[in-house]
Parts: sequence; C-alpha cells; structure tokens
Amino acid sequence: MALHLRGTLLPGGTPRDLWLLGDRITFDRPSGAADTVADGGFLLPGLVDVHTHPGATEGDDPVFDTEVFAEQIAAHRDAGTTALRFPGLLGEVPASLRDAPDAPRMITAGRWLAWAGLSQSAGFHTVTDDLVAAAVAEAKAHDGWCKIMGDWDFEAEPVPYEMVRTVVEAVHAAGARVAAHCQSAAGVLGAARAGVDSIEHGMGMPEQCIGLMAEHGTSYVPTLTAFADFAANVKSTPRGTLIRDGYRTMIRRVREAHDAGVTVLAGTDSAPYGNVATEVEHLIAAGLPPEAAVGAASWTAREFLGLGGLVEGGFADVTVYDADPRLEPGVLRHPRRIVLRGRVIR
Ligand SMILES: [Zn+2]
Repeated sequence: MALHLRGTLLPGGTPRDLWLLGDRITFDRPSGAADTVADGGFLLPGLVDVHTHPGATEGDDPVFDTEVFAEQIAAHRDAGTTALRFPGLLGEVPASLRDAPDAPRMITAGRWLAWAGLSQSAGFHTVTDDLVAAAVAEAKAHDGWCKIMGDWDFEAEPVPYEMVRTVVEAVHAAGARVAAHCQSAAGVLGAARAGVDSIEHGMGMPEQCIGLMAEHGTSYVPTLTAFADFAANVKSTPRGTLIRDGYRTMIRRVREAHDAGVTVLAGTDSAPYGNVATEVEHLIAAGLPPEAAVGAASWTAREFLGLGGLVEGGFADVTVYDADPRLEPGVLRHPRRIVLRGRVIR
C-alpha cells in the first residue's frame, strides 16, 4: 500500500501532501488506498552524513568488521540519517548490507589513499607509490569517489601540488570525484588550487582558498564535530596551539566559504554514529545561516551526492519533525517519523 505524508516540505516551506509508491515520491494521489504515516510537522529529505567511517574495530590496529559496520549504520539510520558517504573505509561493504531494504544509501570512496612520499601516514591508510593510478582505480571500483590524503601530519610537507593536480585530472577524466583530507595550510592550498571536489577538514585553511574553492566548485566538509573535541583537549604546547588556532581558522572559513558561494556540508567523522545533528549545531555556531546548516545535512548534501530531495519521482527518504529545524535545530535529534526507501523505520 502507498504511504501518505502531509506536512510542510523543506526547503520550500510549502504545506503539501505526498505519497510514497515503493521507493519513489509522487505528488499525485494514487488511485488505491494509502496509509497516512505523518499528518503535520516538517518534512525533510532524509538526513545525510557526508563524512563517516563505520565498521572499524576498536584499538590501535583497527580492521573492518561487518558486525560493527552493521551496528553503526543502524545507529545512523535510527537517527534519521538515510544516506552516508564514506570517504575512506577499511574494507568492502558486503552486498547483503548495502542492498538491505532498511540500509541507508551508501556512497563509498574505497580506502584512504596515502602517497608513499609523505613523511608519515597512519596504520589505517593504504600507502601507494602511484597515487594517481590508485585514486582512479578506487573511484572506478566504488561509487565514483576516491579519498586521498593531501597530507597527514599537519606540520609535515603535504603531497606536492602537481601530484594532486594530476590525480584530479585523471579522476575527473574517469568521470569520478576526489575527496581530499587536508589539515596543513600548504595541503589545503594545494587541494584548493588543484580543484578537488571536496576538502575534508581544512584545518588552518589559508584565506585565498575560499576564492579557489568557489572557482572550482569545491565543497567544504569541515567535520567540526571531530575538531571541536580535538581542539578542546590539546595541551598548551606549540603543536597544541597550532591545532587550536587551526580550529579557529576553520570556524571562520565556514562562514566565509558559504558567503563566497562554496557548498558547506555536514560530516561528523566521529562517534557516536547518527550524530549529524551535532554537526548542524556546530555549523550554525560557526556562523552558517540555519537554513544552510540544515541543508548541509539534508537537501544540499543529497544534491551533492546525486540523491535529490522531495521531488516528483525522487527517492522515498523522508524524516518528519514536530518543529521547523531551521528555527529549532535541536529538533533534528528527535525525528517523529523516519521513512527510508519507502519503508517506515520509526
Ligand atoms: Zn575522516
């Protein structure tokens, strides 16, 4: 049977009726009976976390564990997060989990790719001598995205600009996109000059990056949720000061990026899973207008991932709230109704 929802649709703000036929939205009343699952409230295209890495076991030497992965994506789903982008995973998502009727939609980028010439990398990175070939291969083998480490230790030399530029050209030629981790000023600048598709973190971002990102259509995923804790807990050492100052710079750049027309998106990069409402609050605190901050975790993020919003023929992912999240962002923690792939989750 069709599902029927009535409420104020966001971002438009118009009260409307919509129906879900399987995994599709329609605004035309179907001829058969329909089950009304929401009557009133605010209807959002299902939430999105564009930067999350579920599935890793705890400890120093994490490995991909499908049970951990299943638990963590369920936590996302139960919070109304109906689509996820994974900019780096330790393993492959089993088809049984990816295709499960109650699984959030997933956009994977393969492994974290670290160039062998970096002076440091982490145990969870896949180190490669040929970053260009590895990036193209990962993007082709996954959902049209790869994830490169533009740098790792933020006090060390990043991947040379020319190499990032070559990665971007090669991946774009293959019809795919590049997400770049960077948190050194030189690393962020190199990624912005090279025209990567998304800059992840961007700690200490130099001011000139804003214009470069706007020019190249690069999105900004600051993951403030992760960095707020990181910056709050550092010691008063020169390195700690660098982190704290870098975090303050990120906060400033969020608003500047938005004002320059750069798309800012919500990614948490951290536990607890299903916590994208916290990132929306951080984005608002950083000065993003509430409408843009909510969109960063909903309609804007869905557009970015090619998933679309509450439109005729769109995917049947809808979350319903008692209050307008643009006025009361905290309501995002309390979805009254979650519908994913046309199924009522809650
Ligand atoms: Zn991350």
